[in-house]
Amino acid sequence: MQDDRLWQAVLGEIELSISRGNFVTWFKNTRLLKLKDNVLTIGVPNVFVKQQLERKYNDIIKELLAKNHVTPDAIEYKIHTDLSKGNGRSEAEETIELNPSTMQTSSSTPQYHQATTNSLSHSYRQGLNVRYTFDNFIVGSGNELAHAACQAIAANPGTKYNPLFIYGGVGIGKTHLIQAVGNAVIAANPGARVIYISTEQFVQEFIDAVRYKKNTDFAGYYRNADVLIIDDMQFIAGKDKTQEEFFHTFNALHQANKQIIISSDKPPKDIPTLEERLRSRFAWGMSIDMQNPDFETRCAIVQSKAGDKGITLPPDVVDYLANHIQTNIRELEGALNQLIAFCEMRGLEPDAAIVSSLLSANKSRPKHLSARQVIERISKHFQVPMDDLLGPKRDKDIVVPRQVAMYMLRSELHLSFPKIARELGRKDHTTAIHSVEKIEQELTFDAIMRQHISEIKERLYA
Ligand code: ADP
Ligand code: MG
Repeated sequence: MQDDRLWQAVLGEIELSISRGNFVTWFKNTRLLKLKDNVLTIGVPNVFVKQQLERKYNDIIKELLAKNHVTPDAIEYKIHTDLSKGNGRSEAEETIELNPSTMQTSSSTPQYHQATTNSLSHSYRQGLNVRYTFDNFIVGSGNELAHAACQAIAANPGTKYNPLFIYGGVGIGKTHLIQAVGNAVIAANPGARVIYISTEQFVQEFIDAVRYKKNTDFAGYYRNADVLIIDDMQFIAGKDKTQEEFFHTFNALHQANKQIIISSDKPPKDIPTLEERLRSRFAWGMSIDMQNPDFETRCAIVQSKAGDKGITLPPDVVDYLANHIQTNIRELEGALNQLIAFCEMRGLEPDAAIVSSLLSANKSRPKHLSARQVIERISKHFQVPMDDLLGPKRDKDIVVPRQVAMYMLRSELHLSFPKIARELGRKDHTTAIHSVEKIEQELTFDAIMRQHISEIKERLYA
C-alpha cells in the first residue's frame, strides 16, 4: 500500500541515522494512520513513544516526509491500541485514508531507494550504538589492556588477536569498548560489514530461523560479516544447538580472516556447558580480563559523562561519587544522572551535601520498603493494573512499566535477579537481568525515563 510505503520510506531513513536500540524502542510499532485535512496522524503504541516522538523526533520526521513530497501542516501522534500488541499490521490497515491532494502525483512519486524496503530486516552495521566510541572511553588501570587490544583490532581487523575475548564484571565497559571497535571500523571504512549482536538475540534469531523458517539466510548473514561482535557470551550456556551454529559461524569467519570479538561476564572456562570445541577456539586469540577502574579513572569518567551533559561538577562532588561507587560504572553513571535530575528539578547546583544525602538516602532507604510497595507505586504511576504487571501480557505499555519495576527492585531493594523475577511473576531471571540493564541504559540518554524514575522515588520515599 502506497501510504504504508511512505512511512516505510521515512522509517528506512530514520533507521540509518539513529542507533538500532533507539530505532527499535521508538519506531518499532508505529504506522501512518491517516493524512486528512493536511494533518498527518501517526499511530504509536504508548504514551512514552508518543512523548519521545513529539519531543525528539518530530523535526526529523517532518523533514523526511518533505523529502518524500508530503508536507502536512501538523503531525499528530496518536496512541493506537492495535500497535501495542507488537503487530503493526492488522485490520486497522483498512482505516488508512490518505488525502491525495497532499501527496504529489504519480509522476513525482518518491523514489524509495533499495535500502528502504529491506531496511527493516537486516542491514550491516545494525546494532551499534554510535554513542560508544573510543573518544569517550576513558582509559585507565583495569581497562587499558582491553582498550589497547581493541584499538589494534580497529586499525587492522582480522589480523591480530582473533578472536578477542574480553571478560569482566557487570558495568565495567565491555559493551562500550567492543562497540567502539565496530564504530571505528565503520568510520574508517563505511562499507565494512560490522555486526554487533547480543548473544541472547543471536540465540533468539537462531531459534526463530529454525522454528519459523523465517530469515532463512540467518547463517549467511553472520558468515558474511567482516567484523562480528558478539556480546555477553555467557548466555550461550546450555543452548546446544545455538552453540553448534555459532561454532560453524566462528569457523567460517576465522578461516576467512574476519575479526571476531566476544565479551562475557566470565572466562570461557567458567561458562557452564560451553562445548569444548568452542572453548578451545575462544583460546586461539587473546583473552583479556577487564578489571574495575581505579579511583582516578572513575573520577575521569564522572567528569567526562557530566561534561557530555554540559555540566561541570565541583571536584569534591566528583570525588564523592567516585569514592562511593567503586565497581560498576553503569551504577556510577546512574548516581550521576540521579544527581543531575535532582538538581535540575529544583534548580540547584550540585554540591557535596546533595550528593552525599542522595547516596546515603539510597543506602538507608531499602529498610522501609517492601517489593509489593514498590510494584504498587509503579502500577499507580503508569496506571497499569497490578494484575497486568504481574501477568503474562506483553503489550509495550505494560512491558515498560514492568521493566521499570524490575529495575527499581534492584536499585532500591537490591534484590537478587531470581527474586526480582519471582516478584514480577516471571519464571526466568534472565528477563530480570535484561530489564534492569535496559532501563539502566535508557537512563543514560533518556530524560523522560529519568523523570519517571525520580517521580516514582519521590512518592515512594515521601
Ligand atoms: P558492561 O558491558 O561491561 O556491563 P557497559 O559497556 O555497558 O558495561 O558500560 C556501562 C556504562 O559505563 C556505559 O554507559 C559506558 O559508557 C560506561 N563506561 C564504562 N567504562 C567506561 C569508560 N572507561 N569510559 C567511559 N564510559 C565508561
Ligand atoms: Mg554489556
